[in-house]
Amino acid sequence: MFQIAPYDRFPPLALAPGQRVFILTGAGISAESGIRTFRDASGLWQQYRVEDVASPEGWAQDAGVVWRFYSERRAQASQCAPNPAHVALAKLEEALGDRIFLCTQNVDPLHEQAGSRRVHHMHGELFRSRCERCDAADFVDEATYFSIAAIPRCACGGRLRPHIVWFGEMPLGLDVIANELDRCDLFVTIGSSGAVYPAAGFVRQVRSRKGVRAVYVGPEGPDNAGSFDECRLGKAGEVVPGLFVT
Ligand code: NAD
Repeated sequence: MFQIAPYDRFPPLALAPGQRVFILTGAGISAESGIRTFRDASGLWQQYRVEDVASPEGWAQDAGVVWRFYSERRAQASQCAPNPAHVALAKLEEALGDRIFLCTQNVDPLHEQAGSRRVHHMHGELFRSRCERCDAADFVDEATYFSIAAIPRCACGGRLRPHIVWFGEMPLGLDVIANELDRCDLFVTIGSSGAVYPAAGFVRQVRSRKGVRAVYVGPEGPDNAGSFDECRLGKAGEVVPGLFVT
């Protein structure tokens, strides 16, 4: 039976020996660290047109504007620190080892800064760059580029682009994700509006198997609330530290 209620009405989640948990985090887990979300009223996309800064078409039209946007994001994220929700997930990894799969839609490095060692960034990483043209590997890049003239070029002549999955591009490692969705016993989403696919569809994929429990954590029900067993209402920083029995 579907339940939606304040988080303190639910008991903590427990995993039996050998059981696995898939955790999907979204922009909401980083909101209390000061990184603005995508869709909230104060969301950063109110100030930018998504097509201009987060699409291959925007890049083709004006790479300088795109880099200015991500340079601002880099500057802002470097002032932020993990919050208790990130820390709690790092501790959960310590307790569960490889029985936890942490998949984030976030491009910020707050999970790693909190101590998580294995984080699957399905939408790329803010502090990495790669060539727009050749297959050279992506690399750590903390620099900011505020004009088109400042954008470095790869040895092949292509321009450096953010290692970010833009709208219209394929998320990273969907095969690994599908495999983990297929073998988890518990699926937990934290702070995601359920509006951006394919991540918003993961819960339906797990619920197609019998016996898998799906839990949402956030201040309000997401767009795909009906696909979960439970929506535990509250801010990630308040809910996640007590979410699991460890
Ligand atoms: P979204 O902005 O669409 O939704 C954010 C969700 O977080 C909302 O449902 C909101 O209710 C919830 N939320 C707000 N404050 C919260 C809190 N304190 N605790 C828990 N939940 C809270 O975000 P999305 O679903 O992740 O999709 C947005 C896309 O934009 C993603 O693909 C992501 O890659 C990108 N993005 C990333 C970052 C980041 O890296 N931190 C920030 C903004 C956007």
